[in-house]
Amino acid sequence: MNDYKYDTIVVGGGIAGLTSTAYLARAGEKVLLIEKNDKCGGLVNSFSRNGFQYDAGVRALEDAGIILPMLENLGIKLETVKSSVSVGIGKDIIHIKDRSSLNDYRKLLIKHYPESENEIDQILKEIKTIMKHMDVLYGIENPFFKDLKSDLNYIFKKLLPWLPKFIFTIGKINRMNIPVEDHLKTIIKNDSLRDIISQHFFKSTPTFFALSYFSLYLDYFYPKGGVGKLADVVKNKALELGGEISLKTSVTKVNANNNTLTDNKGIVYEYDQLIWAADAKYFYNNTQIDLLKPKVKEQFEATKSKLISKRGSDSVFTLFLQVDEPLESFKAISSGHFFYTPSKKGLGEIYRSELNHMLENWNRFSKEQVLEWLDRYISLNTFEISIPGLKDPDLVPENKSGVVISFLSEYFLFKKVQDSGWYEEFIAEIEKRTIELITNSVYPMLKDKVIGKFTFTPLSIQNRVASSEGSIIGWSFESPVPVINNIQKSAKSILTPIPNIFQAGQWTYSPAGVPMSILTGKLAADAVLKNK
Ligand SMILES: Cc1cc2nc3c(=O)[nH]c(=O)nc-3n(C[C@H](O)[C@H](O)[C@H](O)COP(=O)(O)OP(=O)(O)OC[C@H]3O[C@@H](n4cnc5c(N)ncnc54)[C@H](O)[C@@H]3O)c2cc1C
Repeated sequence: MNDYKYDTIVVGGGIAGLTSTAYLARAGEKVLLIEKNDKCGGLVNSFSRNGFQYDAGVRALEDAGIILPMLENLGIKLETVKSSVSVGIGKDIIHIKDRSSLNDYRKLLIKHYPESENEIDQILKEIKTIMKHMDVLYGIENPFFKDLKSDLNYIFKKLLPWLPKFIFTIGKINRMNIPVEDHLKTIIKNDSLRDIISQHFFKSTPTFFALSYFSLYLDYFYPKGGVGKLADVVKNKALELGGEISLKTSVTKVNANNNTLTDNKGIVYEYDQLIWAADAKYFYNNTQIDLLKPKVKEQFEATKSKLISKRGSDSVFTLFLQVDEPLESFKAISSGHFFYTPSKKGLGEIYRSELNHMLENWNRFSKEQVLEWLDRYISLNTFEISIPGLKDPDLVPENKSGVVISFLSEYFLFKKVQDSGWYEEFIAEIEKRTIELITNSVYPMLKDKVIGKFTFTPLSIQNRVASSEGSIIGWSFESPVPVINNIQKSAKSILTPIPNIFQAGQWTYSPAGVPMSILTGKLAADAVLKNK
């Protein structure tokens, strides 16, 4: 008898796998979660360095009608604070407080692009419409986290009145699926303005998703103690409910022929059902299926070839700083979650055709040419800046601040630099330019007060969570997206061609993120229980 035999095994202890495990444990399943790292959380993760607390992945959370209902449904308490957002261009910074801040955003854009006032107004009209759609979409606690059998009040007072509005809104949302860059081209003539509105989104982000960000800015919250607390509390609940978790264990092979999997130490585990809540390409590349029914094999191979040819989303470069400067100095300038563009010029083709050309012709580019490109890429970029201490002052030593500066980055650039043997030098060049730029543009005190620094690159993300191309939200949005990307069909996103194997997390449904990873984690757990 195998000591490692479980009703269900969940692979991947990110927020998706943790959600599945907690729900399966609650249902009385003998469930094991296998996680490759020494702690759970994946891209929902906080850590400490020299007394400074940072978030390694997502910087703040949006409820989306999912996170808080999931916590409530599992009986989990999580102390949270509001995570206020600032947006800035050059010397002008606005602080998003409520819906009226949209007017401040309008003024900010018009100040920098006065000739485009009408076009700006048209975009803002669209943003307002999308905010109304968002009110509907996330307007009630997601029904998958409610006990529909007992909560009649929810069914009659909330769910039933909401459903027709939801169906109407979904139709509108699905029509706004085109890449935001293409959509903006139909409205805005000025290239720079288009960039300033959209360059901090992943390439080809669906219009609805990109323009909904103003709603999300109002919705952001932050767990006291760091974003990673969310993963901690769900993990603790899963353990409390009898789930088992095996850390520092990497699944290297799945054998779907006999329902087993093997870890990096050679241990073989048996499962009745499996939830794969980690990288999708890894699953399809490392699963044996030769003895399964021909139809299943055929579907598996078809799905595999569709997925393997696609790539993960843009990744991110993050600079973590320890700064000998009190939080008040930063607070006087921005809030703790700040989307900042030093130059109104915009990136233009720097991160698109120019980067592609450089990568395709890498051997013809000298180091100096790459650094010249880097100069322009950094100086014209948009940065997501997070200052955890401004959300929760307990996260930094007294009179000091932790500052986290990040921007979207291309995995293959870092890979090529690494293969060319100057990775460390490249990182040092990025650090130098970023600190210089942010000091000269928005936080004048920064440069002289940095007492410690380190970075995460797309390669670090790939190493840490085994995410293809260092992706941080699953599949690239470049069409066709290889997984379900239509809300009406989201319940099917957790199916794989193998009847007793389900998938959950950011590779399962697009666009993904924390709420969608939680939702698919729950849906996969439900499917397992139904399948028994
Ligand atoms: C900088 C940044 C900003 C972000 N901002 C936002 C945001 O504003 N809003 C939002 O919604 N989302 C955001 N995200 C994305 C969000 O964090 C992720 O989409 C989400 O956390 C993914 O959860 P997951 O469980 O699907 O995957 P992951 O977190 O990647 O978890 C997968 C887990 O599986 C483990 N694993 C992998 N392979 C194996 C194996 N073979 N065996 C065992 N274990 C394995 C990994 O170690 C990892 O713990 C951001 C992410 C980053 C990095």
